[in-house]
Amino acid sequence: MQDIDINTTISEVSLFIEKLQADMPEVFKSGKKTPLKKLLYMGKLYDVNLNRGEQSCITFNDDTFTLTAPNFRQHNLKPVIEGWMKTRAQKTIEEKVKHWAEKMELEFNKVSVKDQKSLWGSCSHKGNLNFCWRIIKAPGEVLDYLVIHELAHIKYLNHGEEFWQLVNSHCPENKKSRKWLNQYKERLFVNEDSNDEENQNSDQPEQQSANRNI
Ligand SMILES: [Zn+2]
Repeated sequence: MQDIDINTTISEVSLFIEKLQADMPEVFKSGKKTPLKKLLYMGKLYDVNLNRGEQSCITFNDDTFTLTAPNFRQHNLKPVIEGWMKTRAQKTIEEKVKHWAEKMELEFNKVSVKDQKSLWGSCSHKGNLNFCWRIIKAPGEVLDYLVIHELAHIKYLNHGEEFWQLVNSHCPENKKSRKWLNQYKERLFVNEDSNDEENQNSDQPEQQSANRNI
């Protein structure tokens, strides 16, 4: 198979692809798998392939999401994608809480992942930690920072000097994570089922919560 020279014209590329299609029909046969859009997960944008199938499900392999559904309407895709993200969020955050609680020598009670719109995380006086599932879209170090932040509230139920000292001692780069959250908070609230510009702002955090205590 010949290589395409950098100076090849578009029509030559088309001819090349047509020839390739004739030579290797199995590569092109599907039309089933159409890259639809990208999904943000753990700070990276991944391709999403669509597959028609009776059962709706989503898998993540080799850096690509594959979304299977009988149709690709919003009401069908949203619960599938959100369900997957919530499950991943619960598992990942739980692991991180266990890891950091041990390092910080703190005891927590329960970890829950919720659909809260006004807070990334919270900590009750009983040591119950709640996190917004959407933070699974953020990079790992941002998740670490949020977990450290909420765990530090087990010791200090305020944002005083001692609280920040404790956070800093385990997460010296926390300013970077706070900046990331501030910069991309709207992106974390984009609906999962649409690439539509109009829909991209429909699920933002409310105005008063823009200045979260992160
Ligand atoms: Zn806080």
